[in-house]
This record gives sequence, C-alpha cells and structure tokens, in this order.
Amino acid sequence: LPQEFELARPVLQTIERAGYEAYFVGGSVRDTILGKAIHDVDIATSAYPDEIKHLFKRTVDTGIEHGTVMILDHGTGYETTTFRSESTYTDFRRPDHVTFVRSLAEDLKRRDFTINALAMRENGEVIDLFDGLTDLKQRRIRAVGNAQERFHEDALRMMRAVRFASQLDFTIVPETAAAIAAHAQLLAKIAVERTQVELLKLFTGKAPQSGLQPFLTTGLWQYCPTFSDHEAALKDVCHRLTTGTPDETTTWTLLVRAFDLSESEVGPFLKQWKTSNQIITAVQTAARAATSLATADLDAWQLYQCGEQLLPVANSVAVILGAPDRETALLAAWQALPIKTKKALAVTGRDLMQAGIQPGPQLGDLLAQLEHQVVTSQLPNDRDQLIQQALTLANLK
Ligand code: ATP
Ligand code: MG
Repeated sequence: LPQEFELARPVLQTIERAGYEAYFVGGSVRDTILGKAIHDVDIATSAYPDEIKHLFKRTVDTGIEHGTVMILDHGTGYETTTFRSESTYTDFRRPDHVTFVRSLAEDLKRRDFTINALAMRENGEVIDLFDGLTDLKQRRIRAVGNAQERFHEDALRMMRAVRFASQLDFTIVPETAAAIAAHAQLLAKIAVERTQVELLKLFTGKAPQSGLQPFLTTGLWQYCPTFSDHEAALKDVCHRLTTGTPDETTTWTLLVRAFDLSESEVGPFLKQWKTSNQIITAVQTAARAATSLATADLDAWQLYQCGEQLLPVANSVAVILGAPDRETALLAAWQALPIKTKKALAVTGRDLMQAGIQPGPQLGDLLAQLEHQVVTSQLPNDRDQLIQQALTLANLK
C-alpha cells in the first residue's frame, strides 16, 4: 500500500471498530492499482456524518449535505463520505436529493466508470463489483451499468470519460462511446465552470489523442461553448497535440491562436468559458507573443511584457502551431533585458514630483514612457538621466 493509505489506515480502523464499514474509494484506489502517485485519499463509509463526527476529535463540515465530512488526522484531511444512492435527476446535472444508504454496493453503483468504482479495505483487499480491475488492466473506460442511463442522469460524465481517456491513455469501450454520441447534446445543460475543469484536464492529459479523438468523433465538442464556431480550426489543433498542453494558460492561448481570434475577441471568448480575469490578461499577452513567434522573434518590449512566466507559454503555442522551439533563446534574451519589472525602474513617481513634475495622469504617462525607453535600451536605467528625460518630455507638452 502507498504511504498515503498506510497513514490513513488508523482512520478506517477507528470507523470499523465502532461497528461501521469504511473503504478507500475513487481515484486513489484506481491510481494505486495503476502504480501511479495519488493526490487525495477519499473514504466511503456506512457511518452517517453525525456518527463520523462523534468518532473523531477534529472534523470539518466540507459538504455535510452530501454526506461529506473531512477528518483531520496528523495534519492530513480525509474526505469521508457516507454511502449514497443518487436516484432521480431531473435536470441532467445533479441528483435532486441525496439518500444515505448503509450498503457499499449501492454507493459503488452510482459511480461513473468501472475503474472509479473500486473500493479497498484497510488491509488492501479490493472490492470489485463491476469488473473494474479487468478494465484497468485492459486500459478501458466503461460506464457502470447502462451507459445511456448514466449519461442521461449526469451529462458531465461524458466529459469525464474523455478526460480520463486523455489522462490515463485509455480507450472508451464502444458501448460507452456510442452512448456519449447519443447524449452529447445534454452537455449544453452542464454549468460551464464544470465543463471547463474537464476540458482543461482533457487538453493537459499525458495522452491527449486518446481523449481528443473521442471528444471529436462523439460530437461532444459541439456542445462546448464557442467551439461550433471554429470546427475546422478545433479539429486541426486537436490533431496536432502529441503531448498534453503544460497548463491552463497554454491551453487557452493555443485555442485563441488556433481560432485566430483578434485581441479584442479574446476577452469575450474566455468569458463564455467563465475563466478568471487573470487568465484573460495572461492569454492576451501570450497570444500576442505567440503570433509574433509564428514569423519572427520577439522584440525587447514583447519579451518584457511576457516575462519569465508567459514566454514558455507563447513558445509552446507557437511550436504546436509549427514554429521552431526557441524557449532557451527567449529566456536568455529576457534575462538580458535592462530591467525586468516596473519596480526595477530607477525612478518613481515620487522622484518625478520632487523634480517638479505635477501629479496627475501625465505623471503615469511619463513613467510609462521612461519604462519603455529603458526596456528598449534607448535610455540607461540611471536615476539622474531618467529625471532629466522626464523634465524634457514634460516641457515638450
Ligand atoms: P482525480 O484523480 O481527477 O481526482 P477521481 O476519480 O478521484 O479522479 P473525482 O472527481 O475526484 O475523480 O471523483 C471521485 C470519485 O467520485 C470518482 O472516482 C467516482 O467514483 C465518483 N464520481 C465523481 N464524479 C462523478 C460523477 N459525475 N458521476 C458519478 N460518479 C462520480
Ligand atoms: Mg479525486
């Protein structure tokens, strides 16, 4: 057993000594059997949330209405969820009500895929009611039970299928893929924020082709915001990805460049996907640089605006779209810039005011001009020379 499970064993033992059942469940069991590192350990139990809270000194109600309590043990938090059965879904999104049950089998039955429906006892024994171990070995994604019904209940599961295929390099079995194709339009009912999470995992997975191919062939892509306006470009960029994109910013910058969006279209595009404003700003900058990199190098001002974080983003995107890899050279050129941040400029607004320049909007303009001239080596980053230049510029107005 991995160390994370060893550390959590006493928690399961405490629950069991009180007469309840407790199991490791979900991604951590799947990833352990695959020999992959695990991130969070999830526990499923027959005990009700109140019963769990009586058994442990330190707990946090992280999702008590869904039956989830976090148990804090030696600095680690364990999400512990009461066995549930989720029966009626009327809006294709989430169960109308959560029913707590005392049976593990009921709980495993409502899980999405056979490889995610494995449970493990504290002693390492695996409970496999849906042949998930065979599917893990054969590297297959298969819905638990009737695939048509499962996607009808919760349409997000279709995006989860393709993202697991990408992350694990698994194949979706034909029956499950056919059910996705038949229900793809239900994805439009899912909150964009939740689709976005799965889309990013799809693009950043280690084997993107394994997920992108069914994403395209099942038609799921058509029910993602904005994608149907860019069919040819989307398909082209998906076929180009041989390795996953490194992160969220790179993924969005790639799509923006592939769709050939203008700078003013980036904000509205990403807003439809409900990304943060911080991502929008970063993508605008990186996309501009990626555009330049398609045909030329970056000038000093572009290097400066991108900075150390966004240069690899712009470079990765340009490379995926066919440009040569220039990451090392770009970072070296950035290193050689006279200044790397506005803070490094040798004058401040206060210095300029002391030199007699009036406060106001033109002070900010002056500082921006000085910053540009220093970055582009038109002026040295020298306090006296910058003040002189500011006075000259101010008097010219
Ligand atoms: P990851 O490694 O990405 O966290 P995971 O399998 O742990 O993968 P989670 O989203 O953390 O995925 O969900 C934990 C478990 O809950 C899943 O393994 C699955 O058993 C169940 N689950 C999650 N979302 C759904 C869903 N939409 N429908 C059915 N079961 C689900
Ligand atoms: Mg998980």
